[in-house]
Amino acid sequence: MSTDDARTSTDQLAFVNPVERFPEISPPKQHQEEPGVQKEMTPTPDIGEYSYRGTGRLEGRKALITGGDSGIGAATAVAFAREGADVAITYLAPEERDAEKVARIITECGRRAVTIAGDLIDPAFCTEAVERAANELGGLDILVNNAGKQVATQSLSEIGDEQLEETFHANILAMFRTTRAALKHLPAGATVINTTSIQAYQPSPTLLDYASTKAAINNFSKGLAQQLAPQGIRVNAVAPGPVWTPIQPSEGQPQEKLPKFGQDTPLGRAAQPTEMAPAFVFLASPESSYVIGETMNVNGGKPTP
Ligand code: NAD
Ligand code: MG
Repeated sequence: MSTDDARTSTDQLAFVNPVERFPEISPPKQHQEEPGVQKEMTPTPDIGEYSYRGTGRLEGRKALITGGDSGIGAATAVAFAREGADVAITYLAPEERDAEKVARIITECGRRAVTIAGDLIDPAFCTEAVERAANELGGLDILVNNAGKQVATQSLSEIGDEQLEETFHANILAMFRTTRAALKHLPAGATVINTTSIQAYQPSPTLLDYASTKAAINNFSKGLAQQLAPQGIRVNAVAPGPVWTPIQPSEGQPQEKLPKFGQDTPLGRAAQPTEMAPAFVFLASPESSYVIGETMNVNGGKPTP
C-alpha cells in the first residue's frame, strides 16, 4: 500500500470485510539498518493519518508513548490525538523524520505534541523521558511502553552478548524503569499499556531473545496490574500479530520471509499499524475500567492461550 492508498482507506468504524479492509501486502525484499525508518519502507505502512476517526474517548488525557515515531506506536499516537489526548513520543536519533511527521499529525489535531529523542537502553534516559513528558504535558495519565528491538538470527550461537543484553534492556528492563519513573506522576484513573507480541506464546526459532522478552512483558503486566489496581491505576498489554512496520525490514525478519509476511494468519494478511490502535485506545480509556492485567491479542486470528 502506498501513501496514496492510505489516503483512500476507510475509517476504523466502517463496516467492511476484515479480509479486505487492507490489501494483502507482499512487501518486496528490502533491508534497512536498525532501527528502520518508516519513510523508506515499501509499501508505506498505514498509521491511520487519513482514516482514524476520534470519538472523544481520551479528551484531555496526557500520554507518553515510547517508540511513537513509527509503526504501532505512531498509529497509537495518531489515534490518541484524534481521541483528544496530548501526546509525547520517544524515538531514536535516526528516526527524527518519522517523529516529526507524527508530531505534525498530533498538532494538526489541535493537541500538544512532545518529541523526545534518546536510547531506552540507557537507564537514565528512561527517567528523563518520563520527566520531560510530564513537565511538557503538565502531567501524565497514560503510559504506553511500546519501544522494542527485534533482530532475527538463525541459531542461538549467533546471538552475541551485545544483542542479548540490548534486546533485554530495550524491551523489558526499560519497561520496568520507565514505569517506575512514571508512578509518581500517574493519578488514580491512569492507565499503563505494554506492547507484547504473539511471540510470547508462539516463539519463532529465529527470535529466541526477542520472544523471551515478550513473554516477560506479559508476566510483568499481569503482576504489576495486581499491585497497582488498588490505587486505581490499570495495567494491560496488547499482543500484536504480524504488522507491517519498520521493525520487520530492519533485521526483524530474514529478508526472504518478507514477501509472505503475515499471510499465514487466518485473515490471510499482515496488519497495518492503524489496526492496532483501537486496542490501545480501549485499554487507555475509562470505558475499560474493569479490564486489568489483560493481554489483548490483535493478531488476525491466531489461537492464543
Ligand atoms: P517500529 O520499528 O515502528 O517501532 C519500534 C520502535 O522502538 C522504534 O520506532 C524505536 O523508536 C523504538 N526503539 C527500538 N529500540 C530502542 C531503544 N534502544 N531505545 C529507544 N527506543 C527504541 O516497529 P513496531 O512493530 O511498531 O514495534 C512496536 C512494538 O510492537 C515493539 O515492542 C514490537 O516488539 C511490537 N510488536 C510488533 C509486531 C510486528 O509485527 N510489527 C508484532 C508484535 C509485537
Ligand atoms: Mg521507528
